[in-house]
Amino acid sequence: MLNLNNEKILITGGSGYIASWIAFKLAEKGCHISLTARRLDDPRCLLLESKVQPLEGTVQFFQADLLDKDSLRKPIMDSTLIFHTASPFKSKINSAYKDLILPALEGTKNVLNLAKENPNLKRIVLTSSVAAVLGDNQDLRNYPNQIADESCWNETSSEAHNPYSYSKTLAEKAAWEIFKSQNQWSMVAINPSFVIGPSITHHPKAESFQVMKQYLSGAFLLGVPEIYVGAVDVRDVADAHISAMENLSAEGRHITSAKDTGFKEIGIHLKKKFPQKVKFSPRTVPKILIALTGRFISKLLTYKFIMNNVGYVWRTKNDKSINSLGIKYRDILQSSEEMIEQIIQKN
Ligand code: NAP
Repeated sequence: MLNLNNEKILITGGSGYIASWIAFKLAEKGCHISLTARRLDDPRCLLLESKVQPLEGTVQFFQADLLDKDSLRKPIMDSTLIFHTASPFKSKINSAYKDLILPALEGTKNVLNLAKENPNLKRIVLTSSVAAVLGDNQDLRNYPNQIADESCWNETSSEAHNPYSYSKTLAEKAAWEIFKSQNQWSMVAINPSFVIGPSITHHPKAESFQVMKQYLSGAFLLGVPEIYVGAVDVRDVADAHISAMENLSAEGRHITSAKDTGFKEIGIHLKKKFPQKVKFSPRTVPKILIALTGRFISKLLTYKFIMNNVGYVWRTKNDKSINSLGIKYRDILQSSEEMIEQIIQKN
């Protein structure tokens, strides 16, 4: 076991939903953490600083952009351990290449190539995604036993189809290539499914919140698309990152997913808990209707995405994360409840 208190820890993407939980949990353990953020006056960074204030550990932000290698140099050179979480996850995009693929791929290359120049670096935990494991749900038909595990790679996404998933696949592949090109530091990947649960900074900008806000906005008022996903609590994802860093026997990829679920199951639970606030009907919206209208909701909800995903189950293994990282998964329905409660209170 690595004693993290003796290490110089860097987290990239420190303004992020997952990163801020990793930082908070590390600060609770007494660690002193450096974080990169694009803007030091970002309210999420200021809120994290105030949340960490009473704890034993500390956080310090450095301004850096993934595409500006020089801005990353000092924080990376000064660290012995890196959690590389920064990568764009958003559905409102102008260009798949510029907004998703370029920063994910070049950002990962920049961070890991600089890590190769740091003689003191010991270990990297990379935030990948199940999106790098599975593209469309229908792809499961060709997976061994129709279930995705850590040996599987997303082979169907592209710049035109599921570009976010493509960006995560390219970035993780590039990371393993750079890892293999050196023998100084070790690397572990965490591959979370859809991450839910409360934000530590109460300032949610993350895509997870944009998705969950649909239960309040009326998007599911007349019915819900038959979309199945894996889901996991953000605090379990943070624990998985920390355990992967501490536990030197952990290696390779780790699907981090509590439950195979769907928008309907979560909606039924939320409607029961918040009957006045949640606008949801458990009726299934016909696939063809979503296929024809999806594009008007988001550029990513293309006809092909709907045809290849709606109505197809989602199945991923999570036993490696349980056995090798010791994760005891929370109930994701409870997580969804805490998240919606936070959104309601904020508005
Ligand atoms: P988030 O809150 O949006 O965090 C993403 C972070 O990446 C933000 O801090 C963002 O900074 C940073 N970033 C994006 N582009 C950047 C750039 N060019 N330069 C520097 N920083 C940049 O979302 P999240 O959910 O915490 O995501 C964190 C990681 O988890 C990502 O790698 C994502 O792919 C992965 N992941 C998320 C989920 C999920 O369901 N949420 C599931 C699987 C994997 P700004 O805020 O300044 O843009």
